[in-house]
Amino acid sequence: MPYAITQLCCTDASCVTACPVNCIHPTPDEPDFGTTDMLYVDPRTCIDCGACAEVCPVDAVFPAETLTGALADYPAINAEHFAGTEPAAPPEGSPLFHAWGPVRFDRVLPADFPTLDVAVVGSGPAGMYTVQDLLLHTTAKVTLYDRLPVAGGLVRFGVAPDHADTKRIGESFARYHDHHRLRLRLGVEVGSGVTVDELARRHDAVVYAVGAPTARTLGVPGEDLAGHLASTTVVGWYNGHPEIDADAVPVDTVDPARAVVVGTGNVALDIARILAADPARLDGAFAPAVLQRLRASRVREVVLLARRGPEHAAYTRGELLALLRRDDLDVVVDDHDPRVGETIDAAAPGEHAALLQGVPRVRVDDVPAAGERRRVVLRFHAPPEALVGEDRVTAIRVGGPDGPGELATGLVVRAIGHRGRPLAGLPFDEETGTVPNHAGRVDGRPGTYVVGWIKRGPGGGIGTNRRDAAETVAALIEDGKQHLVGAKPRRRGFLRRA
Ligand code: NAP
Repeated sequence: MPYAITQLCCTDASCVTACPVNCIHPTPDEPDFGTTDMLYVDPRTCIDCGACAEVCPVDAVFPAETLTGALADYPAINAEHFAGTEPAAPPEGSPLFHAWGPVRFDRVLPADFPTLDVAVVGSGPAGMYTVQDLLLHTTAKVTLYDRLPVAGGLVRFGVAPDHADTKRIGESFARYHDHHRLRLRLGVEVGSGVTVDELARRHDAVVYAVGAPTARTLGVPGEDLAGHLASTTVVGWYNGHPEIDADAVPVDTVDPARAVVVGTGNVALDIARILAADPARLDGAFAPAVLQRLRASRVREVVLLARRGPEHAAYTRGELLALLRRDDLDVVVDDHDPRVGETIDAAAPGEHAALLQGVPRVRVDDVPAAGERRRVVLRFHAPPEALVGEDRVTAIRVGGPDGPGELATGLVVRAIGHRGRPLAGLPFDEETGTVPNHAGRVDGRPGTYVVGWIKRGPGGGIGTNRRDAAETVAALIEDGKQHLVGAKPRRRGFLRRA
């Protein structure tokens, strides 16, 4: 019986490397790598060895026959990915399926190379894949900085507490915190505690993995009203972020009992799922003070607002399917606009809008439903136009086929994506919210590198950072090789003086 990859796939491709028969795709060498929500096991060539499950950092791979309940669809989802393709055949003369190319040593430093002293700023996934790559492929000494007193970045303070398996990737990163070549400097904020220039003077090279910490704004009237929160506040709150107060999200006083979340990305889905959950399902993964407030929550309905149609929804298939499978809440599509149902019905199997086929469609009232069961409502073609209220939000005005309408609500969360923040001393592109760079090399600052969302913009899951970090580390190694081969005494900052 083959194995199958499930919803929590982080796409970091650890399984691809472990698989002896090359049955997991897309591989990082294939053109569609990075374009799919997850990786897939080809059941026709899987030999059931379980190597993939052993190395998966988020426990997302299982024998197909053991998958039941919310994961029951995944054997078919894996098989579907290979529909219409021929099963891979082993290369001629080889019992294995891997067509291994010639061994490459392009990321190895010469033996007489001086020990690099590298700083990595930010201990989230991008920073930790960089640390891992540096420690495994070079003899570099690494100093890992984070402005918070605890390491982990978005793994600790971004991944939802009810996604315990995804959070487990933090354990595989934390292994490196004790590495004899790693020094951990927590509670140090680069840009205020220490400047970019000071850091550059102290280390041969500096890699910034500072993410995109700011929540984008809606740009509509009423954004300053109380009762309107950024996704970063809500996500930080339910993760017990040290800088966010336990009372920051007033779920226990929401009136009316409807929360509106603007956006349909996975962050919006995380927030909707947690706000609409039956409190009995929430456990000690949440901080006690947050759990207490969630248990006293008045929220009965969460409306997710999309400015475009269901074919453009930003959630991934796995996250939506998991929401649809919940038995403690209902999911419905608001059919206020005939285009929504038409698009869903016309979607071919495999198209994004087809995921909503079979989901009940109801006309959602201006005031929240008073039903017994909690529910999540997906409302498409409803761009937010204004937040309404005197001193706090009482409604949100949205566009629609018959002109603007208002949805009564006591809590609006904007989950419309993130934005990088400028760091004094580094260049910054205001339009993209990133640090201008080429393959991770910061423009105009030799010896300075970026990785993760501050490098490529705020998109992609945890595993996307592995390949991204490999590119940045390769650039750093290449620069070192170019300028250091034969250098005798080790001089700090040689990369910058190159
Ligand atoms: P995202 O995926 O980029 O989604 C942003 C959403 O906001 C989209 O629905 C977008 O709609 C909407 N939006 C943007 N500007 C808007 C505006 N002015 N008015 C109304 N709607 C607006 O962002 P995200 O949810 O923050 O996620 C960031 C990344 O983290 C994603 O790659 C995501 O998959 C990943 N992530 C993954 C997980 C997981 O795997 N469980 C969990 C959390 C985050 P348009 O499409 O119309 O622009």
